[in-house]
Amino acid sequence: MLQSMNQANDVKAKDAKQLWHAMKGSKPDPNLLVAETAKGAWVTDVEGNKYLDGMSGLWCVNAGYGRTEIAQAAYEQLEKLAYFPLAHSHQPAIQLAEKLNSFLGDEYVFFFSNSGSEANETAFKIARQYHQHKGEGQRTKFVSRYRAYHGNTMGALAATGQAERKYKYEPLAQGFLHVAPPDLYRNPDDENSLSSAKAIHELMTWELSSTIAGVIMEPIITGGGILMPPKNYLKRVKEICEAHGALLIVDEVICGFGRTGKPFGFMNYDVKPDIITMAKGITSGYMPLSATAVKREIFEQFDGEDVYDRFRHVNTYGGSPAACAVALKNIEIMEQENLFQQSEQLGERLLEDFQGLLSQPNVGDVRGKGLLIGIELVEDKQTKEPIHVDKINQIVAQCKQSGLLVGKNGDTVAGFNNILQLAPPLNITEEDYQFIVKTVTESISVLNKKPLS
Ligand code: PMP
Repeated sequence: MLQSMNQANDVKAKDAKQLWHAMKGSKPDPNLLVAETAKGAWVTDVEGNKYLDGMSGLWCVNAGYGRTEIAQAAYEQLEKLAYFPLAHSHQPAIQLAEKLNSFLGDEYVFFFSNSGSEANETAFKIARQYHQHKGEGQRTKFVSRYRAYHGNTMGALAATGQAERKYKYEPLAQGFLHVAPPDLYRNPDDENSLSSAKAIHELMTWELSSTIAGVIMEPIITGGGILMPPKNYLKRVKEICEAHGALLIVDEVICGFGRTGKPFGFMNYDVKPDIITMAKGITSGYMPLSATAVKREIFEQFDGEDVYDRFRHVNTYGGSPAACAVALKNIEIMEQENLFQQSEQLGERLLEDFQGLLSQPNVGDVRGKGLLIGIELVEDKQTKEPIHVDKINQIVAQCKQSGLLVGKNGDTVAGFNNILQLAPPLNITEEDYQFIVKTVTESISVLNKKPLS
């Protein structure tokens, strides 16, 4: 910890001079949090302030901070074999693939990369090439949903359905189409009618279904506002994909590794995707790592002798030995401590405890699965008009002032900037749990206070 206010200001001045921060412009942020240490769910900044990290960093520190065993696994592997490319192989990658397959019924092969965006790009390239190998090279288009986020690279951003993220970076990769996602708060009939799934069938038909390579979706839209699907939505989408000859790519970058109470989010919905992308919780953020899991029968279409029959896609750092060793230790810890089950149980309890919030004038909906919770704030419960962004910013700021970091979804362009998001580490203690409930409740009630006149 820095000893004086002057030292802290000095660090912030250096930061302002040297760093370009995610989602920020060039003006220094007066509320910048410069983290120094973290343990469990708590982060301490250079000034000694402590925050419960209600977002697990960027939805990734599932096993919690400060795990010595994970650090040790990285150290030991770095000493033993610091690096080797996966054009060859090494044991940590083989063991990790085997472990991941133990969750997935041994039906997949894994291509490792470093980030969620890369995992999705890899999935798109595999899908297009797979169709080529099957003599259906015209299948190049992907269907995704508005409000979803799939990454920052030109393909993953094209798949993203948030105009705010794309504006000023276009043109992006071609061939990405979007439909509206389920929004059960505004369209509860969708639970039975599955009209949001039917929209995918209709889009494919209008676009000529023989040109569709695949559909990409998160099981639950996360960053776009914790949008829960109807119970049978994913299953119906898989049937639609099969009927149209398209692959179902499920983006588990956030929903994977216990976030929704199961090893993978799709496991809540009784489907088997053709391709699964994963990152974040795979290492709990301790090292960069992602994976694209591909059904073995798709992989087997890459068996030709010609160089163009292979997947010509290489990644220097993807699946580095230490990242794989970290992932293995991370998963081992989460299993030993039953963190997937804990996420499921605490999520159910949080939803129950937050039901009380619905009596507040601006709380329209509370939803989620596992430790993935969204609280939708509205100006008016009848019209469901999203609350003004200044008000949700006020709540986020109030939470931070009280020592709790929470998130909010972002699509200012579409006016949906009104959902508070919570995704704390899965190993929060009872005390942490109580702190979250109390702080969120008190911070939301700030909206009920009349401004001083
Ligand atoms: N998919 C989803 C669902 C995500 O939330 C994210 C990142 N938040 C990504 C993909 C991209 O991951 P990364 O930032 O590691 O590239």
